Amino acid sequence: MELVEESQASAALRALPSVDEVLRSEAADEWLAHLPRNRVADLVRDAIAELRVQVLSGLPAWEITPLDEVKAHVDRTVRLLRRNSLRPVINASGVILHTNLGRAPLSSLAIQAVIETSGKYTNLEYDLGTGARGKRDMHCGRLLENLLGAPAIVVNNNAAAIFLALHELARDGEVIVSRGELVEIGDGFRIPDILEASGATLREVGATNRTRAEDYRRAIGPETKALLRIHPSNFRQIGFTGKPSLVELVELARSKSIPLIEDLGSGCLVDLNQEGIEDEPPVRESLDAGAGIVTFSGDKLLGGPQAGIIAGDSGLVARIRRNPLFRALRVDKLTLAALEATLRSYLADREDEIPALGLMRVPASHINSRAKRLARRLAMLRVPDIEVVASESLLGGGSTPMHSLPSTAVAITPPEGMTAQGLEVKLRSDDPAVVARIEKNRLLLDLRTVFETEEDALLAAVVRAMGQSG
Ligand SMILES: *Cc1c(COP(=O)(O)O)cnc(C)c1O
Repeated sequence: MELVEESQASAALRALPSVDEVLRSEAADEWLAHLPRNRVADLVRDAIAELRVQVLSGLPAWEITPLDEVKAHVDRTVRLLRRNSLRPVINASGVILHTNLGRAPLSSLAIQAVIETSGKYTNLEYDLGTGARGKRDMHCGRLLENLLGAPAIVVNNNAAAIFLALHELARDGEVIVSRGELVEIGDGFRIPDILEASGATLREVGATNRTRAEDYRRAIGPETKALLRIHPSNFRQIGFTGKPSLVELVELARSKSIPLIEDLGSGCLVDLNQEGIEDEPPVRESLDAGAGIVTFSGDKLLGGPQAGIIAGDSGLVARIRRNPLFRALRVDKLTLAALEATLRSYLADREDEIPALGLMRVPASHINSRAKRLARRLAMLRVPDIEVVASESLLGGGSTPMHSLPSTAVAITPPEGMTAQGLEVKLRSDDPAVVARIEKNRLLLDLRTVFETEEDALLAAVVRAMGQSG
């Protein structure tokens, strides 16, 4: 028995083509049109080696010839290598700041700034006035100071911002933080892990649901370097809860001559009360109340590129700026270009130019008419079982989990022999990929997060997924 298997395996091994044989095939011409010969030869060699492993582990049940099997293998790899892995997707999920979908889409002004500066030399660290070395901080520094009323610096993201602030201000000491604020933000990112990596020791106070100023006061000792307040982000407690006001904590920190550091998470620069969003305090509010340092993200409610902003007391910000790790966490010219342009929209009071805020403010009635129009067009292309349904969009990015925005979705009931999951996979595998939501075995396309310029592509993708031409 074993002998038979062995001879079958060696026969299968003998049937594997040689590298030359594959390279002589017609399929190779197509690969060689895109990649140099030595790279293609490597891919062929890898494919043959992989098939050899399959043979030896008793796997091969090829339905095509070994040569075709190798060709198909190389074909797949060449296609993957030729195509950008990072590419645009149509966000029909209704989540505006979707972390998995790259959070905030940039404004056209920000994109323009990136285009203008990225292919050329810039004055990134060159002072055009004096002809001497300058600091990259100046490009956004002035705008931020203007908007926030306090000096600010920019690092890679908010995690880096809070890490750097603690590393400078509380390393080898204690930071007092409420137990109820030590949350996991998502994808295994736990605030306490970042905080402790800074070299500061966390001293947790209060109960999970309630913390009083007195709890902080009692915990302050000779080792205490700062008080820390963290925006609860995507986590909300309801019921019997409580925490001290910002002002109480500021006063306590002042009386002990230690700074209050506040991680605001989203970093909202405008008042969103009109949008019904009440638990995203504007950054200025914290600074005006006297927080020593605040940190926040550039790509959440601010609507810019991935970045972390550290703002506050000029002496403290200057200390953090001098920390050697600032160099390791600094941002590049593309980020600065996009952030500066985004901030300029705020300065001009033209926040609607910023897609994250613009999408949030699109009236529900407008989304509803767009959904109806899309449904009509789909019906005209004979896509069956289309319905227009009420939907709830979310801010996402850890902002205001309790608050949703009224929206409208096009709901598609999968045809016979297809499931909503199957339909979802088809749309997600298309180009451009469409990210949709499934609810009660129907596929929902929430139009709040679909740009009007994407509607034709969305329509075409749905028609393809439903297996119809048109
Ligand atoms: C999102 C968030 C962070 C992390 O911000 P990044 O910019 O993603 O690094 C930290 N703290 C809070 C409270 C947040 O909401």
